Amino acid sequence: MSNTSTPKPSPSLDQDQFLTILSREDALARFEAALFPRDLPSEPRRLDDALGCALAEDVVAPIDVPPFDRSNVDGFAVGSADLASAGEAAPVQLLLNDETIACGTAPTRPVLSGTATAIATGGPVPRGADAIVMVEHTQPAGQRAIEVRRAASPGQFVSYAGSDIARGEALLRAGTVIGSREIGMLAACGIADVQVARRPRVAILSTGDELVQPGEALRPAAIYDTNGAIVTAAIAENGGEAHFLGAIADDEAELEAAMRNALAGSDMLVLSGGTSKGAGDVSHRIIARLGKPGIIAHGVALKPGKPLCLAVCDGKPVIILPGFPTSAMFTFHDMIVPVLRRMAGLPPRSDAKVTAKVPVRIASELGRTEFVMVSLVEGSDTLIAYPSGKGSGAITSFAQADGFLKIDALADQMPAGSDTEVTLFTPHVRVPDLVIVGSHCTGLDLVTAPLARAGLIVRSIAVGSLGGLAAAKRGECDLAPIHLFDDKTETYNAPYLTDGLELVPGWRRMQGIVFRKDDPRFAGLDAQQAVRAALADPACIMVNRNQGAGTRILIDRLLAGSRPDGYWNQPRSHNAVAAAVAQHRADWGMTIAPVAHASGLGFIPLAEEHYDFALVAASKRRPAVQAFLNALASDEGRAALTAAGFRPA
Ligand code: AMP
Ligand code: MG
Repeated sequence: MSNTSTPKPSPSLDQDQFLTILSREDALARFEAALFPRDLPSEPRRLDDALGCALAEDVVAPIDVPPFDRSNVDGFAVGSADLASAGEAAPVQLLLNDETIACGTAPTRPVLSGTATAIATGGPVPRGADAIVMVEHTQPAGQRAIEVRRAASPGQFVSYAGSDIARGEALLRAGTVIGSREIGMLAACGIADVQVARRPRVAILSTGDELVQPGEALRPAAIYDTNGAIVTAAIAENGGEAHFLGAIADDEAELEAAMRNALAGSDMLVLSGGTSKGAGDVSHRIIARLGKPGIIAHGVALKPGKPLCLAVCDGKPVIILPGFPTSAMFTFHDMIVPVLRRMAGLPPRSDAKVTAKVPVRIASELGRTEFVMVSLVEGSDTLIAYPSGKGSGAITSFAQADGFLKIDALADQMPAGSDTEVTLFTPHVRVPDLVIVGSHCTGLDLVTAPLARAGLIVRSIAVGSLGGLAAAKRGECDLAPIHLFDDKTETYNAPYLTDGLELVPGWRRMQGIVFRKDDPRFAGLDAQQAVRAALADPACIMVNRNQGAGTRILIDRLLAGSRPDGYWNQPRSHNAVAAAVAQHRADWGMTIAPVAHASGLGFIPLAEEHYDFALVAASKRRPAVQAFLNALASDEGRAALTAAGFRPA
């Protein structure tokens, strides 16, 4: 209990908050102690169904491989003694025996002194022969004899019985994971069935009233069930037999029935969501009724992933993963995979790791082991690890990231310039050919599409215009997309460039007012009139943008000091503004034309924003940078941008 600490006071009064937050190490140790040692059941499997399984017992070779002495070449089986005196000047003639030993043909005649038998690669060496001469080293001498002009050493071109695998030899050890090489060894010995550790049957349930399965229509306020798919795949990746049983509503009786049913037919149950001990979060209460000893840890000092709940019910692990997909994924890999693999008889995961430098300070919460996803780019002498998280609710962080770094529970930050270990998501580092760091725009994907088709790896890291500019100044990217308005000069972007950076014009994005097409208050008005109309109606709610956004400057100018309802709703993206208006949470806001049109909203154009690139001059010659500049200037690139509603510069 040395690592436990007393709980922080609960922010909401009716929630029985986590009683004790365990350290990651402590929680894992207790979980494992409650589960192991245990008998690992095994089962026979056909070889063609055993890929990825762990052998449950040693396999001893039942036969010799090859089973007989075998010729390695096409040629003639001979007695080497007959050729002892052969040489360029002293050819030896051998009479041909009346048979040809093809593959799969057993010889019938011995090779007597002075004779030879034609033999194919893979043919069994006949009695009396102890060497093979290659056909290339012989000449025909009439119909029934050959001439040989070089000596043969005993055993030449012969593979002896058992030289590859000897009967009785330990072929594979228990615990070996069966891959294609192991399957090859087993097949060579004629083994069709192996005894393997039985894959643990793992039942998966998602919980939440808001969940809809992929493929079905999304209803208002609902989201797609992401964890169900993630956990199902991650279980299969780590040796489990995954059975996804769907999403269950937050209803205690319904959930309890589903959990009991799931657990009855499986070795392990993984739930996600509903672990925060909120009013609707009932899973942990149910677990307490499912079996002994019950909950082992509820609350682990992990970030993301604090609400993780680990339980053992009558010998079976029952886990509630946090609801946020990224949290679910990290906690699953860090805390559940070790246990699952052990139950599947598999060795611990061996993830590839690299050392990299962090370019910026990463703040971290003291007392929690923190995982931070990073994108790797190549620095002048080291790899650089860019934090790429969008918060624990963001799933796309995984797509952009190459791996993650870990900040110790006892550290409150990782200082800029630190060297750190990065665990890769892939077996090798894939250093991108082109690194784009800055403000993201859907137009960017259109321009980089041909580069991706040409096999170039393009990494685009969204950190906003100012973050991109800073990265460009440090030389950590090739291009920084920016849209920064300079109040003094009333121009975009150029005033922000410093030495070593060049401006590459990108495209223009029309900014304007969005409203629902059926809202008569804005019909036929220009932007100034529309804002006046909105301000005149106290029931009309706006949605703003965050401080620092180029769009925000335009909104503030139009409002001229007014602060209507909704002013403090300040989302950070063009899409969030459109969503707020489309979903009736606001009646108007400002966004860019392509986003307005994609959301089916009415749009009143106001002013064009310049989305350009700060090019790191030192990178200009790089082939991928040239490919990008070509794509940007190409007819195809310009047409794609125009079709999506942008205006190429
Ligand atoms: P909960 O712990 O149930 O309150 O969930 C925390 C957050 O994760 C909420 O925003 C949920 O909507 C979300 N969430 C829960 N389960 C899933 C899931 N299976 N897929 C995607 N998001 C989920
Ligand atoms: Mg929930």
